[in-house]
Amino acid sequence: QAKADGKGRARLFEPAMDAHLLVRKAFEADLRAALQRGEISVHYQPLLDTATRSICGYEALMRWQHPTRGWVSPAEFIPVAEDTGLIDALGEWVMRHALQEAAGWPDHFTVAVNLSAVQFRGATLSRMVMSALAAAGISPGRLHLEITESVLLAASEQTLSTLHQLKELGVRIAMDDFGTGYSSLSYLRCFPFDTIKIDQSFVRDLSTGPEALSVVQLIISLGASLGMETTAEGVETEAQYACLQALGCTHMQGYLFGRPKPASELGHVGAGMPQDGTPDSGPSQTLL
Ligand code: C2E
Ligand code: MG
Ligand code: MG
Ligand code: MG
Repeated sequence: QAKADGKGRARLFEPAMDAHLLVRKAFEADLRAALQRGEISVHYQPLLDTATRSICGYEALMRWQHPTRGWVSPAEFIPVAEDTGLIDALGEWVMRHALQEAAGWPDHFTVAVNLSAVQFRGATLSRMVMSALAAAGISPGRLHLEITESVLLAASEQTLSTLHQLKELGVRIAMDDFGTGYSSLSYLRCFPFDTIKIDQSFVRDLSTGPEALSVVQLIISLGASLGMETTAEGVETEAQYACLQALGCTHMQGYLFGRPKPASELGHVGAGMPQDGTPDSGPSQTLL
């Protein structure tokens, strides 16, 4: 651990720090090359309509398969992509890819794409989305953009005006991971979201005590009174499904209904190449 430097003293890097920096630089270089090398792909996780318990869309989730690192988790590479600015290129690639894929799904299926706060920096985001929609020939109402509170943290005029531009296009805006940030409720007043996505931590704790249940109940009734849809994330058990249905949650997502998988395994027209050994396959996989 490096201590704060005294005045006039040269900062000495310890070997361990150097090594860490090298590892980080190598990771960045790999990520920079990943798109051209065809290592980036998109997996799709089903979104279910609670009332009918049928699929009504998919969320696009970015995947990186490196030849020696194997599958790298988005939790690991998205922050690096944000720090380096690579997220703009990766985000645009996912947007265009997911919309092209969605063009092969039934007409009423929605497609959700996650956006990083960094993508709101420039003034080009809404133009990029418009262009991607046009290229895929998809109606804007089928696109759901998921943002987290980090987008609203700065709450610059620029960010809000981009959100309003997107909304005017007819795109729907969802607040992802709701309830995990510093000021979830106040962000709901900033912008007329179409959907609240209840963070999976609340869903996971539904059975462990009355607190999570009360919070989920509150979020769902809040959503209903604001005219917003509510999607529960991370639904893994029938008990959670029954509980959320009883509370009036309009949509659900989770391993109970399906893990994220490559487009080729969704069973719709327009599927690409099959893939094996994906990071999302696991013992509790439920086939619909
Ligand atoms: P998120 O948008 O909240 O996505 C939900 C995450 O929960 C996904 O993890 C998904 O695989 C996982 N998940 C879904 N159902 C279950 C379940 O029943 N149980 C459990 N334990 N997990 C479940 P993933 O794919 O690793 O993505 C993590 C995060 O990385 C995403 O959270 C999102 O914030 C970010 N991310 C992924 N793809 C993109 C992207 O294309 N752009 C940006 N900006 N961020 C992305
Ligand atoms: Mg999401
Ligand atoms: Mg989420
Ligand atoms: Mg998340």
